[in-house]
Amino acid sequence: MIRKNSRALIVLALSVFCIMRSFAQIRPEWTHPFPAFHIAGNLYYVGSEDLAAYLIVTPQGDILINSNLASSPPQIKKSVESLGFHWSDIKILLISHGHYDHCAGSAEILRETHAKYEVMAQDVSVVQSGGATDFHYANDKSMHFPPAHVDRILHDGDTVSLGGVTLTAHLTAGHTRGTTTWTFDEGEASRTLHVVIVGSPNVNPGYKLVHNARYPQIAADYRHGFAVLKNLPCDIFLGAHGGYFDLEAKYPRFKAGDKNAFIDPAGYKAYLADREQAFEAELKKQSTAHH
Ligand SMILES: [Zn+2]
Repeated sequence: MIRKNSRALIVLALSVFCIMRSFAQIRPEWTHPFPAFHIAGNLYYVGSEDLAAYLIVTPQGDILINSNLASSPPQIKKSVESLGFHWSDIKILLISHGHYDHCAGSAEILRETHAKYEVMAQDVSVVQSGGATDFHYANDKSMHFPPAHVDRILHDGDTVSLGGVTLTAHLTAGHTRGTTTWTFDEGEASRTLHVVIVGSPNVNPGYKLVHNARYPQIAADYRHGFAVLKNLPCDIFLGAHGGYFDLEAKYPRFKAGDKNAFIDPAGYKAYLADREQAFEAELKKQSTAHH
């Protein structure tokens, strides 16, 4: 009787675990507010504690990178306005990749600002279907988000220009089919700084890197992405999550007067090496399991 009950308990616990696992986790640091601040040149941070969003201000209007969660737009708007800029000046909306933590707010932002939505070709279907065509999360409704219409389809190496600023879209796929790393140069008084906003080199839990029928070239795409990232000149190292570039540690230094806190070419290299090693280890594990 006791045995039977404990077995029932285990089954119950397992099913609760499975139900919980199938729901998208909104981590507290994704919604915790974070002070908006000037990074360098015309580049500003307008994201939350961990979900990064960037504003690039030009005389012809502004570019916003990442719309984050469906609940994020009011928070991003508040950040933009706290810096003295106008929400309606956002003319172009870009994203790091088509997952709900970076693009779920797009539909609302596009509606409010009338910005043009410019997305890497391989993520367009995911963005326009609200995640329904995602190679991994198609059947997980908790990972879906409000669909948004894409105005311009980008391809690897395409540029986005506004008011004298030019950003380059680098396809660094694997995490999604269209994961995009953005680069541009910040001209400051006496120097030019190469900015890199990493799209995501991470292998999510459950990703199949071997014999993935829905995304056969996934492992090759990750490898190509690492090769691309390693070749990008980087002074200011940024990414889709604050955690990639250690925003939590760098911001207090920056705030205390270290204007170079985000200039971190060594940190960029170390981050890529760490992520590449994690990817190769996971690939090896999955390849071994298949033999
Ligand atoms: Zn993602």
